[in-house]
Amino acid sequence: MTSITREECVALDAADPLAALRDEFFLPEGVIYLDGNSLGALPRSTPDRVADMIEREWGRDLIRSWNEAGWWDKPRTLGAKVAPLIGAGPDEVVVGDGTSTNLFKVVVAALRMSERNVVLGERGNFPTDLYITEGAATLTGAVHRRVDPDSAELSAALAEEDVAVLTLSHVDYRSGTLRNMPAITRLAHEHGALVVWDLCHSAGAVPMDLSDSDVDFAVGCTYKYLNGGPGAPAFLYAARRHHAAAQQPLSGWHGHARPFDFSSEYEPAAGVSRFLSGSQPIVADAALESGLDVWAKADMEQVRSKSLHMTDMFLAAAAEIDIETITPTEHARRGSQVALIAPEEGAGYPIVQALIARGVIGDFRDPDVMRFGFTPLYLRYVDVFDAARALVKVVTTDEWRQERFAQRAQVT
Ligand SMILES: *Cc1c(COP(=O)(O)O)cnc(C)c1O
Repeated sequence: MTSITREECVALDAADPLAALRDEFFLPEGVIYLDGNSLGALPRSTPDRVADMIEREWGRDLIRSWNEAGWWDKPRTLGAKVAPLIGAGPDEVVVGDGTSTNLFKVVVAALRMSERNVVLGERGNFPTDLYITEGAATLTGAVHRRVDPDSAELSAALAEEDVAVLTLSHVDYRSGTLRNMPAITRLAHEHGALVVWDLCHSAGAVPMDLSDSDVDFAVGCTYKYLNGGPGAPAFLYAARRHHAAAQQPLSGWHGHARPFDFSSEYEPAAGVSRFLSGSQPIVADAALESGLDVWAKADMEQVRSKSLHMTDMFLAAAAEIDIETITPTEHARRGSQVALIAPEEGAGYPIVQALIARGVIGDFRDPDVMRFGFTPLYLRYVDVFDAARALVKVVTTDEWRQERFAQRAQVT
């Protein structure tokens, strides 16, 4: 950290155009939160919003709220609030169910749209993406193959195999590697494949334009950078051009063209609503909506430039004490997190625990990766400075070797 002083960080915070947004969040005293890539912080407006939903909309207005409070349309109104963050049209996104479920819906829908039967995934993807893709392939009689998308394997597989669908994470959950969405989507299309992007670690972390990139389908969760709350419903994007042809497998009544006809025959809704299945968690929708309303005040380009500055600072601090990283140093290939390799085998988990004991919350992912997420809406440059200093201290003084930091919890 020779390159920047704490005073310089204070000055950066004073000049930060996003600084006021920090006040929109509840942040506990004495904590520097570097895990907003796993569970976003609580917006200050959320408790009142949820209480109002429960007491007034549910308690007083009861079933009338399906119409009067707009419960029925929540998947669409929330989808329209996610849309500008991912460069989609407001009629191309719905919110509902979870990322795993939505991934299943779009992978099966995409497979059904193709004559081919190979679904290409990435070897190191988040496990649920692999399991779900595998399950969708088995069900439809397709074959699931896996490649390393950051190597020549990807273009080779697209050229050699009859790939129906390519499924990739936009930002790798472990390393924080950002993939070139427009280029990879174009390449897949040139080879006749449809593309499904998982935006879990990129929505609210990096600017993107699904429309310009000609993306076919995408899914993503809202409890990470979008601050929707634990287990908040996920979003699903389907390009307008596919709405008429796409048939998703979980064809429930909320996806019906006229649900209140209570017809015995399924007829999919005309637009992106056909991707809905059943009733949605309206209480959780209220929490998510208040998170998205904070996002409506943020400029994504400002978020990106602050995020890169912060991850640059943290990477520089790690480099000073010779801690290796698997996060790309090039800005164009970096998301909004830094992943460090433990300086010796088995040190990753206790180092993260020692940092947590000092109030710096990151997390740990096998094998021996220490993950630190940077969320410019509520992090200050001084926080990054102090967190980096804590990391240097924990590692250089061997503080992490204390017995108490070795105990593994269920969630790491
Ligand atoms: C967080 C995350 C998920 C989570 O899926 P859920 O269905 O919400 O549990 C899926 N995929 C990726 C890439 C993620 O980062």
